[in-house]
Amino acid sequence: MKKTLTQTLGYPRIGIDRQLKKALESYWKGKIEAQSLQQTFHDVQEQGWREQLQVGIDLIGVGDSTLYDHVLDWTLRLGLIPERFRDIEGLDLYFAMARGAQGIPPLKLTKWYDTNYHYLVPEIDDGVLPEADFTEFLDQVARAKAIVGDRAVPIVLGPITLLSLANLEQPMADVLEKIIPLYEDLLQALDAQGVTEVQIHEPRLVLDETSDLKPLYKRSFERLAKAGPPINLVTFFDDLGEAYPWVVELPVSAITLDFTRGDNFALVQKYGLPQGKTLGVGIVDGRNVWRTRAEQTREVLDGLGEIEDLRVSASCSLQFVPYVAAREDHMPQQLQGVLAFANEKLAEIVALGTGSTEDGLEQAWADYREFATGDSETRARLEQLRSDSFARKTPYEERRAKQIELPPFPLTTIGSFPQTAEVRRLRGRFKRKEISEAEYQAGVDAWIAYSIGAQEALGMDVLVHGEFERSDMVEYFAEKMNGFALTRFGWVQSYGNRYVRPPIIWGDVRRTSAMTVREFKKAQSFTEKPVKGMLTGPVTILNWSYSRSDIPREEVAFQIALALRDEIVDLEAAGASVIQVDEPALREGLPLKRARWEDYLRWAVDAFRLATGGARDETQVHTHMCYAEFGDIYPAIDRLNADVISIENARSGDQTLRELAQYGYGRELGPGVYDVHSANIPDVEHIKTRLRAYAKHLRPEQIWVNPDCGLKTRNWDEVLASLGNIAEAVRAIREEIEA
Ligand code: GLN
Ligand code: ZN
Repeated sequence: MKKTLTQTLGYPRIGIDRQLKKALESYWKGKIEAQSLQQTFHDVQEQGWREQLQVGIDLIGVGDSTLYDHVLDWTLRLGLIPERFRDIEGLDLYFAMARGAQGIPPLKLTKWYDTNYHYLVPEIDDGVLPEADFTEFLDQVARAKAIVGDRAVPIVLGPITLLSLANLEQPMADVLEKIIPLYEDLLQALDAQGVTEVQIHEPRLVLDETSDLKPLYKRSFERLAKAGPPINLVTFFDDLGEAYPWVVELPVSAITLDFTRGDNFALVQKYGLPQGKTLGVGIVDGRNVWRTRAEQTREVLDGLGEIEDLRVSASCSLQFVPYVAAREDHMPQQLQGVLAFANEKLAEIVALGTGSTEDGLEQAWADYREFATGDSETRARLEQLRSDSFARKTPYEERRAKQIELPPFPLTTIGSFPQTAEVRRLRGRFKRKEISEAEYQAGVDAWIAYSIGAQEALGMDVLVHGEFERSDMVEYFAEKMNGFALTRFGWVQSYGNRYVRPPIIWGDVRRTSAMTVREFKKAQSFTEKPVKGMLTGPVTILNWSYSRSDIPREEVAFQIALALRDEIVDLEAAGASVIQVDEPALREGLPLKRARWEDYLRWAVDAFRLATGGARDETQVHTHMCYAEFGDIYPAIDRLNADVISIENARSGDQTLRELAQYGYGRELGPGVYDVHSANIPDVEHIKTRLRAYAKHLRPEQIWVNPDCGLKTRNWDEVLASLGNIAEAVRAIREEIEA
């Protein structure tokens, strides 16, 4: 069999032992010099190139590594620097744009397509003068070439994708006109370096509404194609949809598509590929952690047999998976045997290229299947679900009358209180078995007592225990339920120096015992005021984990929902009259293409309804969501049928609030009055103004008062001062109403 070339589209860039995070944080604290940070950065890159060379990848994507964010890198390389940063230079400028500097706010962070990676949003104002500086990129490429030779293929973030990710003050076509010459210069420089191919990443092409962009793509790529080495146009995260026929006609030599999401397979079958073009087949899932099943890849590759020139690769950059599954040797062998992180995926790509099957692949899956036999009880419960399993027992008005009575403008928080160094140390000591469980619980309880005391003193109406026992709102539950595995080294970048370790859902989910009742009871024992039970919702647990791929996500969400449903029963038995089920990831899980929204929202909302549908009428069910822009999914928000929703609002200036009110949202709402991501303390008058504004959109009895989100990242001084001001404003407003 003819050998198929293999390629990569990006590799993890945080360091196998999180070296880059450590170096960044030391540098920011002034403990190491820039020189030493650069050294670590280079070491991490070189390790990645050597790894890819060693397994035998033919075309190694290079230049994707970054100190903080690759979108920021391209923003700076093109000199797209917003006014407020123009006096700063060098690394200071880089980190000022990433994290802010003396009173200068940073660029906004937002999600990179439908992944859990966040990039910095370029701001391109009218006065911007694009000006290229590719020195550092070209240096990366040169160092890569020194190690991997001609296999090095520079990865370039495409111009139209870059602009579509940005906040633009001018029409895109105008800015594009200014930056295309810079891209041409770059391609020329790469040509001069002897580069044989360039990857241009254009994920914008998988979103809806590409037709307006078609002329821009045509014009740009006609110019880029003439400027330098042959271009491999790369897209990922979904299929090309309607854009397929014209995208494949762009003057590029290769097109690389994602064959793990969407239906590029059908598009290639239907429209074929122009003569002489190479197809990059992204068949190894770059966003999940399972070994590729041979039967699936064979079907795709055989089906593409007509195409003359094929290459195999991962579906996208491997930055979305951790480095090495083989390190997770604490896991059962049968599970570890079917995991593939970045390095294992490299081996898979090479095996696909040579047409060989990886050693023991079939056996590994057979062993796994024997091990993960499934939970018959969970399965049986799923089969017995009826439509009333997804609904509260009575309509809102009827159950509201039976629920808790509170003063107007009830005051609450979103759940977490400061996760101070002491709190983290306490959890760390318990994890390392330096203290007993009893000692640990006593430590947690002391914090609970402290937070309850503080909330009482502040005059909060619905209290929380503070979530001191949770390092992370998903991991905490994953540790307690069957069907989840936690990794030890499985870090992936969420943004900059923030890495997360998503749990892996490998089997049927089941709750084996109460997960939150002990802390709830403890908190409630310290106060007469109601304490909220605090749960993470099924969709958020699913979206922030790697999910199994052998059953639909919908089914996994329902399994988690059933576990939470049982937890609600236990919380009620323990005396909870208010229970919050957080779903911050519900909106961000929306598929990239609108055509798939409805299906997602149907099951996602159903999962929430299944989790909460068993609650007694007397139980007030809250939910919390952080992100704005609910207008387009209002029916789904409403269908959650939560009694109270708290939302982020301080940052987004009442937008969501106005939208919900416009749609006639009839239940209760807590629009945040305190931006928890800022060190600013909101003042009393400001909060009063906000609350009066809420009353313009909502009936007074609908309004709750709370911060935007959990307070875990703030310190106690800030929290006490802010909540103190909020409480004072609420007292004043209540007096106004009574007067
Ligand atoms: N209850 C969680 C907390 O307060 C909610 C966090 C979130 O919305 N991301 O920390
Ligand atoms: Zn939140």
